[in-house]
Amino acid sequence: MSDWKIIIADRLDHSGLEILAKSAQVDDRAGISSEELVSLIGDYDALIVRGQTRVNAEVFSAANKLKVVGRAGVGVDNIDLAAANQKNVTVVNSPQATTQAVAEHVIALLFSLARSIPAADGSMKSGLWQKKQLIGVEVRDKVLGIIGMGNIGSAVARLAKALGLRVIGFDPYLDNAEIESRGAMPVIPAELYTRADFISIHVPLSLETRGMIDGKVFSSMKREVRLISTARGGIIDETALLAALESGQVAGAALDVFVQEPPGMSALVSHPKVVATPHIGAQTFEAQARAAIDIANEVLAALAGKPLRWKIV
Ligand code: NAD
Repeated sequence: MSDWKIIIADRLDHSGLEILAKSAQVDDRAGISSEELVSLIGDYDALIVRGQTRVNAEVFSAANKLKVVGRAGVGVDNIDLAAANQKNVTVVNSPQATTQAVAEHVIALLFSLARSIPAADGSMKSGLWQKKQLIGVEVRDKVLGIIGMGNIGSAVARLAKALGLRVIGFDPYLDNAEIESRGAMPVIPAELYTRADFISIHVPLSLETRGMIDGKVFSSMKREVRLISTARGGIIDETALLAALESGQVAGAALDVFVQEPPGMSALVSHPKVVATPHIGAQTFEAQARAAIDIANEVLAALAGKPLRWKIV
């Protein structure tokens, strides 16, 4: 066993903890406050988080021994990458571990919207039998527009094709042949918005994508489009979405992510045309175990100076 000390700030599946414990001293402090993390981080060689802990400039400035931050999962918007870079700290994630779980959740949300399953269940639980009101749409032969053809976008494309949807996609960082090989017909954004019956968003949250689905974009969409977002809160302008739901431009929205999490009983969450889930895209036993194992191995590789598979900075 080496002298490495690793602090775990968010809940990590036991399968990852077991791998780490074979090579390092591991302090499982899941749920630690930011203040406590700042006061303790100076002692540690590695920090592992999921999406909750904010690893900000204050944490990095107190992190005098820190060599690596591991994010179990995909999005690194909770980590200040510029501060990490400045402090010469490596940041790694486990980008493939949760892909299947999120893609399957997208399909669950697609059918929830198409057949109003949450509303049907809710009405039954209040003693009603609303058979006549609950007429849905079929997904076969409908057009699914995917924004962002990365890991999750392409996994969704594969599943959707198997259901008979016609899949079109947009991703400015991939060429057309690559988008096609990932299961979507490449289109420009304007075409995606005018043709898609369902739209699913799979871009990272960045300066470029924050607020990209705004009022202007909603008004260019096909009327009665159904929208799914499992990406990150803030990519969709929530006020503009509410207006589009009210006007009937958007027939339904399924949201797993919100600008503020938890969002409470917001106008969007309580809207009858919205299906809301509490950021559970990656919450399967399988995905959590894979994310923990992948990040444990990657963090140990970083500490040992070995080649890395998923280095971000
Ligand atoms: P990825 O990096 O594999 O794919 C993202 C794709 O978006 C890339 O191909 C990139 O080129 C593309 N892209 C970037 N900017 C774009 C733009 N302006 N327009 C169109 N495409 C653009 O990431 P991924 O693993 O597929 O994750 C996608 C999203 O899902 C991320 O926002 C991630 O944080 C989120 N996510 C959510 C959950 C959840 O629990 N709901 C879990 C995992 C990931």
